[in-house]
Amino acid sequence: MNDKYRNANPVLELSEVKRCVRTLKEIDFELAYLALLTCEGLKPLSRWEKTLADDGLKLLRQMGLLTKQIRRKVKTGKEVIETIFSKLPAYLGLYEQRFGNRPIDKSVQTRRFEGFLFGYPPCCVNEYIHNPYALNNLKAEEQKILFHWVCRDCKITPLLLDAYKSIYNSLNNC
Ligand SMILES: [Zn+2]
Repeated sequence: MNDKYRNANPVLELSEVKRCVRTLKEIDFELAYLALLTCEGLKPLSRWEKTLADDGLKLLRQMGLLTKQIRRKVKTGKEVIETIFSKLPAYLGLYEQRFGNRPIDKSVQTRRFEGFLFGYPPCCVNEYIHNPYALNNLKAEEQKILFHWVCRDCKITPLLLDAYKSIYNSLNNC
């Protein structure tokens, strides 16, 4: 790993956080990854759409994250519960205000607002809206560790990538 980033995950150095992350990994690797990205501040807010039991919620809170469960409806009328987590109370409030008790929608406005909350570069959000999964210049293994689809010739993602890689690697070795 790049020397510059060897100590880039101070949060994971805390033994309590490490214990939580290890247990979260047993529940779901991707959930642990999202939690760590959010803890480290790379993502202002994250959303978990699968069911999450109380023990999972507790682990997120033990990592210092604030959590909220949001009721949504899908097209069929069925209710779903989303879990959102963040270190920033205002972001949880913004999400709840905009999406709480509302149907799940994929409008352009929603995608832009979600992109803002989730920490996606606006250029990538924009490209995805107009041209989803357009060819980009990223290696497949780099695209795989991101949660946004990267726009062609992105100027922001290359600046984020080392930090994502560092967190992804430390999670694998945790
Ligand atoms: Zn971009």
